[in-house]
Amino acid sequence: LAGRACYRIYSATEGEQGQYQQRLSEALMASLKVAPEEFSVVYQPQFDLATNTMVGMEALLRWQHPELGQISPADFVPVAEQRGQIHELTEQLVRQILKDLEDCEIGYARGRRLAINISARQIADGRLEAMLEPFFSSIRAAGWLPEIELTETHLMNLSRACLAKLKAFGDRGINVAIDDFGTGYSSLAYLHALPVNVLKIDRQFVQRLGADGRDSRIVSAILAIAEALDLEVVAEGIETEAQRSRLRDLNCHRGQGYLLARPMPLAELTLG
Ligand code: C2E
Ligand code: CA
Ligand code: CA
Ligand code: CA
Repeated sequence: LAGRACYRIYSATEGEQGQYQQRLSEALMASLKVAPEEFSVVYQPQFDLATNTMVGMEALLRWQHPELGQISPADFVPVAEQRGQIHELTEQLVRQILKDLEDCEIGYARGRRLAINISARQIADGRLEAMLEPFFSSIRAAGWLPEIELTETHLMNLSRACLAKLKAFGDRGINVAIDDFGTGYSSLAYLHALPVNVLKIDRQFVQRLGADGRDSRIVSAILAIAEALDLEVVAEGIETEAQRSRLRDLNCHRGQGYLLARPMPLAELTLG
């Protein structure tokens, strides 16, 4: 009987989750169509850890719904993926970035990186290149170097045709980064064959450096892999000075995290 009670609680929770997903999905569909102003983009600066200079930024989507409030991309991006709305969402991202760049008139990007997150499921979609080509041209004209971030888990499932598309991006000077590196299951042989040139160390490994910056075994191992394969490394989620200095001592190239700068509207970002 206890088992049955548990089952009921469990299924009620699942049902509620399903309802929320359904509500999110409908709201997302509606907002993308009629209320694009609910979406905005924040930019989190990335720094060269050796010199402390700002060398790039990652664009992150925000969605403020009138009834549901501020919804995390960690919640709405998976919904968009499942419901076939990820293309429209990325369209919104790209449109907003171009608008921000225009409004803020930052004409001195000078070769800094501008990274966007792309769902690996989009790579197979023929509309992706058609959307990204003019976008990359525009941001390049403003002095930014385009970078695409893809999460590791999905990279493992890409077809040969999709890998060829990624390689084509790389051939045109667009950086391709593996996001949340270390949380998926890439074999080294596979990693070697992937057309990527940047690894982003997942926050959990940076956190493992601890407040005292000491447990650096995994980060060191990732840096060694990156060096062997000639990949650049970005550490994300740097929250303490100890983590920052440890990463710098380990020769990690780029860093990003609340200690260095929070994600913020482009208008608030100052480029040195
Ligand atoms: P991510 O790509 O791993 O992005 C980093 C996340 O960590 C961001 O959360 C960022 O705000 C947060 N963060 C940055 N520094 C720190 C730190 O020092 N400490 C902690 N605790 N967190 C930090 P956010 O903006 O909520 O985004 C969550 C995820 O949603 C992203 O994870 C990314 O996978 C996805 N996402 C965001 N924007 C987009 C987008 O435009 N397209 C797609 N496909 N996915 C997006
Ligand atoms: Ca990312
Ligand atoms: Ca990440
Ligand atoms: Ca992450």
